[in-house]
Amino acid sequence: MKYIGAHVSASGGVQNAPRNAQAIGATAFALFTKNQRQWQAKPLDEAAIAAFRQACKEGGYGPGQILPHDSYLINLGHPEAQALAKSRAAFLDEMQRCEQLGLQLLNFHPGSHLNQIDEAACLARIAESINLALAETQGVCAVIENTAGQGSNLGHSFEQLAAIIAQVEDKSRVGVCLDTCHAFAAGYDLRSAQACAASFAQFDAIVGFEYLRGMHLNDAKSTFGSRVDRHHSLGQGHIGLEAFKYILADPRFDAIPLVLETIDEALWPDEIALLKGYAGLPT
Ligand SMILES: [Zn+2]
Ligand SMILES: [Zn+2]
Repeated sequence: MKYIGAHVSASGGVQNAPRNAQAIGATAFALFTKNQRQWQAKPLDEAAIAAFRQACKEGGYGPGQILPHDSYLINLGHPEAQALAKSRAAFLDEMQRCEQLGLQLLNFHPGSHLNQIDEAACLARIAESINLALAETQGVCAVIENTAGQGSNLGHSFEQLAAIIAQVEDKSRVGVCLDTCHAFAAGYDLRSAQACAASFAQFDAIVGFEYLRGMHLNDAKSTFGSRVDRHHSLGQGHIGLEAFKYILADPRFDAIPLVLETIDEALWPDEIALLKGYAGLPT
């Protein structure tokens, strides 16, 4: 079964995310469990947690269909000790919020070396950050997102993702979310079925499909190999629709959240219907 949705708004409370997802015909969704541009957030209260669980139940969303995303401020590979500690504390808070909501996945961007430490040292810091968070939580999987490789962001190559995973102690609680726009911008071609087959074969050989816990389905405003992160609506960017046909027809992408982060929210109902059609699901 394919679970298809979008990164919906949780404005007004986390319980609004499943409601917003339901309104656009989604069978999966992503959300921020706190304001993604602020360090501090008030703890989730019992009422919000109960309302979230109830809304998920009503919408038919199990934990395997929900892919929360952490704050953009967090850098788990930060070269400076104090800033790293701040990021690690914020990440632990994000993991704990997921625990409270009964969620099993937390999607995050691995981190940036800021040109102050080398790649290997930064990847080791990221893995250690994951180990620390996993040691203090239960049941939530740390889901590393591949990046476009903009600036000094790591995680743009499958080798870098594999290097992080290799240093995580509990392999059952680490995974990967592949963003199609980021992969394309990082130099993995997805413009034809043949290109998809080759790029995903590379992913399988270097990382392994057993680690794939989610997908972000985005077309790209940025060009192939540009290392620039600019999403576009499906079929309107440089990737084109073949990639999405390929993914929706391939059983290796079953049973994980497939989440749109495309730029025009008004198109989400149509994009979800299109993807459901590619998967052979009723729309
Ligand atoms: Zn993404
Ligand atoms: Zn992006």
